Amino acid sequence: MAPFGTTIFAEMSALALQHDAINLGQGFPDTDGPAEILEAAREAIATGRNQYPPGPGFPELLDAIAAHQHRFYGIDLDPRSQILVTVGATEAIAATVLALVQPGDEVVTFEPYYDSYAATIALAGGVRRTTVLRFPDFELDETQLRAAFSERTRMVLLNTPHNPTGKVFTRAELELICSLAKEFDAWVVTDEVYEHLAFEGREHIPVATLPGMWERTLTISSAGKTFSTTGWKVGWVSGPAEAVTAVREVKQFLTFVGSGPFQPAVALGLGLGDEMYATLASSLQRKRDLLVGGLREAGLEVSVPEGTYFVIADAAALGASDGVEFARSLPERAGVACVPVSVFCDDKDAARTLVRFAFCKRDEVLEEAVRRLRALR
Ligand code: PMP
Ligand code: GLN
Repeated sequence: MAPFGTTIFAEMSALALQHDAINLGQGFPDTDGPAEILEAAREAIATGRNQYPPGPGFPELLDAIAAHQHRFYGIDLDPRSQILVTVGATEAIAATVLALVQPGDEVVTFEPYYDSYAATIALAGGVRRTTVLRFPDFELDETQLRAAFSERTRMVLLNTPHNPTGKVFTRAELELICSLAKEFDAWVVTDEVYEHLAFEGREHIPVATLPGMWERTLTISSAGKTFSTTGWKVGWVSGPAEAVTAVREVKQFLTFVGSGPFQPAVALGLGLGDEMYATLASSLQRKRDLLVGGLREAGLEVSVPEGTYFVIADAAALGASDGVEFARSLPERAGVACVPVSVFCDDKDAARTLVRFAFCKRDEVLEEAVRRLRALR
């Protein structure tokens, strides 16, 4: 694990603190989610739900996840055998990769990729094969994607809506990926933590709903983004029972169980009305527009995200020749923190001067960040 060092999120958050900068680096909201969810967690603690939950998760949360998948996507799950609650999506990803990938197996993923994918594939002894999504459109290149597959491909590790690009994969793109997964007999592990953060005009399509995909798909999500509770670390994975069992067998030895009193609170959250979900997406879309407008005024070239709460900008227009250096200097220079995108890439040149900003912040915080960035010109 030596090459992985300290994560970029920890590094940039520490720099933001050191320079009292506005932290648009690590993605976490600066306001809490719905009050009734917070109250449900307090209540769970007050009523003594403070010991180990059952291995698969509390039944009420398993039921709520199954109801959520049915309500939003028409996916029918057996809550007792096809769902596992994990310590955030991070543990779901780790346990799934460790369960399915043997040393030497290849995992196809899309870069820039979420940092834990590379580290987790390495932990499993797997080999990462990537296809590049290129700024500013982040389109899928069919030839390059096909070239990433081989007879050693065991898994495709996909993320839609996609961090850090903000791309929401289209049905046609997902169909292409799925047809290759079938051709090479690979699992598709799909990280859908931003499932409720797709903006106007873009539909989040769960891979498990595509024809013939259920039996080879494991779907991962988390309460962190949907309920603005990133510190609670309640995640889950769902799919065919035998695969979920394999993931649970690994998970037992990672954390055994976790996040006890937060589980009933998330169960309540998943059952909240459509308005909560719609407000979340529309409020973030407004924040996206605020930050995108501000970054453009500051002279940066921006790719407008279709989902998530991240936006990628090219810092070259501000004279940057290296995004890592630019991001490291920005907290002191401008009082704003971001993260460099090249750390999420094998092909560093494809992202040399790109940086990612998070817009899941109060409007006044975003406005102040934009003021500071504009002053750089
Ligand atoms: N996947 C992606 C794409 C993410 O951006 C994140 C970050 N929060 C995670 C997984 C991890 O989620 P959790 O905090 O629930 O572990
Ligand atoms: N998922 C968040 C991000 O991409 C934070 C992840 C982390 O701190 N590990 O910014």
